[in-house]
Amino acid sequence: MQAPIQRLPSEVAFDGRVLFLADDPELIRKQLTGEDLEWPFDAALRDNISTDEITPAYICYYYDDTLGEFPYLGLKAGTEFPITRGSVKDGGFACSVSGKRRGKGSSREQSPYAEMCAGIRVVIAENIERIYRENCQNLGILTSTDFSLIERIRSGVPIPLTEFTKGEGAITRDIIEFGGLFKYNVARLQGKVSVPPATQDKRPMTLGEKILARHWVTDLALGEVGVAQVAPGDEGFVQTDLRFSHEYVTPMSAIFWEELVGEDEKVVDPESVFFFRDHLTFLELTMTDERKASGLLDVALQLKEKQEEFAAQQGVKLYGELPRPSSGMPVGSEAICHSKILESHALPGYLVIGSDSHTPHAGAIGCVAFGVGTTAIFNSWLTKDVRIKVPGSVRIRVAGAAPGNVTAKDFMLEVLRNPYVKNGHAIGKILEYSGDAVAALSVDDRATMTNMAAEVGAFTGLIEPDEKVVEFLSRERGMSAAEARSTLEGLAADPDAEYEETIEIDASDLRPMIALPGDPGNGKFVDELEEKVKIDIAYGGSCTGAKKADMDMYARVFKEALDSGNTVHADVSCFIQCSSQEVKRYCEEQGYIEIFRDVGAEFIEPSCGACINAGRGVSYAAETVTISAINRNFPGRSGPGQLYLASPYTTAASAIAGHIVAWEPR
Ligand code: SF4
Repeated sequence: MQAPIQRLPSEVAFDGRVLFLADDPELIRKQLTGEDLEWPFDAALRDNISTDEITPAYICYYYDDTLGEFPYLGLKAGTEFPITRGSVKDGGFACSVSGKRRGKGSSREQSPYAEMCAGIRVVIAENIERIYRENCQNLGILTSTDFSLIERIRSGVPIPLTEFTKGEGAITRDIIEFGGLFKYNVARLQGKVSVPPATQDKRPMTLGEKILARHWVTDLALGEVGVAQVAPGDEGFVQTDLRFSHEYVTPMSAIFWEELVGEDEKVVDPESVFFFRDHLTFLELTMTDERKASGLLDVALQLKEKQEEFAAQQGVKLYGELPRPSSGMPVGSEAICHSKILESHALPGYLVIGSDSHTPHAGAIGCVAFGVGTTAIFNSWLTKDVRIKVPGSVRIRVAGAAPGNVTAKDFMLEVLRNPYVKNGHAIGKILEYSGDAVAALSVDDRATMTNMAAEVGAFTGLIEPDEKVVEFLSRERGMSAAEARSTLEGLAADPDAEYEETIEIDASDLRPMIALPGDPGNGKFVDELEEKVKIDIAYGGSCTGAKKADMDMYARVFKEALDSGNTVHADVSCFIQCSSQEVKRYCEEQGYIEIFRDVGAEFIEPSCGACINAGRGVSYAAETVTISAINRNFPGRSGPGQLYLASPYTTAASAIAGHIVAWEPR
């Protein structure tokens, strides 16, 4: 890229007003109607402003600078929501101020982008959550925890840029000085910045570190990649093998591309880029009439259209929606992103990025796969790499023989209630799963464990590839055993590799588990439930619970029920939704579709569906009780009801019983 690029001036001045996000709605209203508050003032600033409050989920159906109409629409001050559409933009604010933990929650980049499009150039808060702060930096919004800057910002006096870069590492400092990740990357491509080298000290490495070292970019312009070793804390860039995004993210990344790179420019190596229509395929079946009447459905459908248009322009493979029949209603998708990447594209040792927190799914065959934000995806289309700070590693060893009704999902619910994990010590780490109980799992089941590294809050999760992976690649990809085995070369942790912690689990001690509503970490053995929990819905689907191995489990339980003269309980609505057309074909070949039909379960074409509160199987009332094979049960995740997480066996057995029970193998 030859675009002229330079660092920001050494001093910055602001010419807008300061918006204090206070706890008192009246104070906010005064500012929106033109009054500037004295600072400091007696009233409290709002703490814990989440990205959900900055841009509620339905606002994220917008993906361009229209977002500037909406920042803080979900912000609660006292018991009110004082900020209305357009009021921040119309107020001429350049700076937004709040209290503790600004930007917590979801990693959605729509939040700082909405603020930026409304005119906000600097965010000040007592402390600022990491991902939100990085997203601000990537977009070129300045951040600070120094409240003494407020008067200087307000008076328009020049402020040294170093006030906004102090304490940051070399790469972050450069990103801020160039005004965002894109401009920084252009400077990298032009050789105007240098990235600090990885560690020179020879050291034993974990598997995750080895894969990162193989992909470490040493010279972007020359395309040189690979270092002998990396160590936790090293900052740099790693070259990707696969980059993918879904319809919630691709359109906004596409807008960035068109505005900053150019509509006629082509993404680098489009064969390694994939787009997916999976999250909102069935949204119109669940969106309220009120929202439809306000035009939100039309806005959400534009996400699909923009992604299709950009994929066609760029020659990028889109796993899209199935053609709609004459009724115009959706019938499903080709695949959920994670399922397809593992089924058809990832290989052992790959480095994969995706616009979704469950991207570690592909770690089941020994990839380092992790989720990134909108700006990082867009930049990866240009540079093919992604910024990284090498995390520490945690080993999770599951030993022993698991009982026949204990699955990978039960292993993960046990991991999630482990005090080390529950207290947040594994957040941002590389998880490496091992032990004979993990080795005994199929690749599909291993993917349940790596997928749910997201629930741990980990950077990624992966498993050393072995003969099971060779069999998987031979069966699913048609590779010869020798060819498949060659991909495993060098993919083992060094015997003396350093782990920050080793969590030991004895699989033979486990029994089928559920997570009580509210959090995947609320794990309990099913037989410890104090009372009978009647259920209204049983849902078997999602990237976690709709692979071929999961379908085997549902079908096995349902077949046994049919053989005993039982069907889905009369009070229960049961849904089985596969994760890809390939899984559907497998179900057809195995005769599972008939079993699901005969037992009384509704079979649905692939999509994220109920997992993201957008499809058959969601709840509509707080009293509704659901048992589900999905991966997370945060409030509202699949409707307002109470959502219990369980394995496919437990989900299917409960659908038959009408209440939560473990499946007992015959
Ligand atoms: S199925 Fe659920 S968890 Fe998986 S990608 Fe879709 S929304 Fe995310």
